[in-house]
Amino acid sequence: MKIQQQSRKIPIGISQCAMGDPVRFNGGHKHSKICTELLGQCFDYVPLCPEVAIGMGVPRKPIHLLVEKASAPVDAVRVVGVEDPEVDVTEPLRAYADSVVPQLEKVRGYIFMQNSPSCGLRGVRRYLDNGHGIDSEGVGVFARRLQQKFPHLPMEEVGRLNNSALRENFLTRVFAYDAWFRYVELEGGDPEEVPADDASGPVAAASYLARIIEFYTAYKYLLLAHHQDKTRALGRLVANAKSLPEDQLAFEVRGGIMDILSRPASRKDRTNALMHSAGHLREFLDKDEKAELSALIEEYRLGRKPLSAVLTLLRHYLPRSPHSFIHNQVLLAAEPAELGLCDFH
Ligand code: SF4
Repeated sequence: MKIQQQSRKIPIGISQCAMGDPVRFNGGHKHSKICTELLGQCFDYVPLCPEVAIGMGVPRKPIHLLVEKASAPVDAVRVVGVEDPEVDVTEPLRAYADSVVPQLEKVRGYIFMQNSPSCGLRGVRRYLDNGHGIDSEGVGVFARRLQQKFPHLPMEEVGRLNNSALRENFLTRVFAYDAWFRYVELEGGDPEEVPADDASGPVAAASYLARIIEFYTAYKYLLLAHHQDKTRALGRLVANAKSLPEDQLAFEVRGGIMDILSRPASRKDRTNALMHSAGHLREFLDKDEKAELSALIEEYRLGRKPLSAVLTLLRHYLPRSPHSFIHNQVLLAAEPAELGLCDFH
């Protein structure tokens, strides 16, 4: 399985105020150029404003998260009016989230506006009924419901995407989630069913089980760069694939991959994954080439060369190997920095 970058723009849900639409409670917006101009090159947005959608209007009275005590469970909140706690929009926001689930089945990521009692993904301020802020353990009610409906969907907040490393991580997760649906679930066209070169007819798609295993295999070295122990544990699950019903296996492998990728890749673990990749090519290199490759990986480990320099050299030697395992590794495909979407590191 050779996983290719998506050629069409990837559908992504987004808080509507981040698109520059004046839908905030005060009639303003929170336009994010990172979202619309930079990431808009590869994302096709589905903008939603849950508060407008449930009829609160613009402008509207502000709302906030209400809890009975500090450290209350994340779902033990109400979304009420700041001035009038009798105005309670908790259930309308949850019902709206439920209503947009079919519309969001095709999105491959979601970007939420931070600090919102509807859209915030983390650290939203929570209040007692006397109006005192008690903690910042809240999650916006709309965002929380979508987390429950789409447990593996890559999600991030608008503000955090200004950070290049967090942006890269979100892109990596979106690309993987999108690839899963294209290559394992065969949605959006069947990339496996391509005409044979000898015109003997289409090549049949691999079985569902084979596609799950091939997907994990293609991601193996990228996963190692994010979390070695969890990748090995996932490898053991895949090795015992036949012990689980296919649907359960698919759910657990997809969840495992998205969980591993949610941990940013460290330079140390990336170096380890690059050395594994280089190990597959060494038998095809002469003494000087091996030394050059090893020296370059060491320079990367020390922070003196960017990842793209190592990837470029590995890709240069790749055609010498006849083995599909190393040709198919997603680790060696174009990284987000090479696509111009975040900084080189
Ligand atoms: S944060 Fe969410 S609810 Fe608030 S204005 Fe933006 S899209 Fe609407």
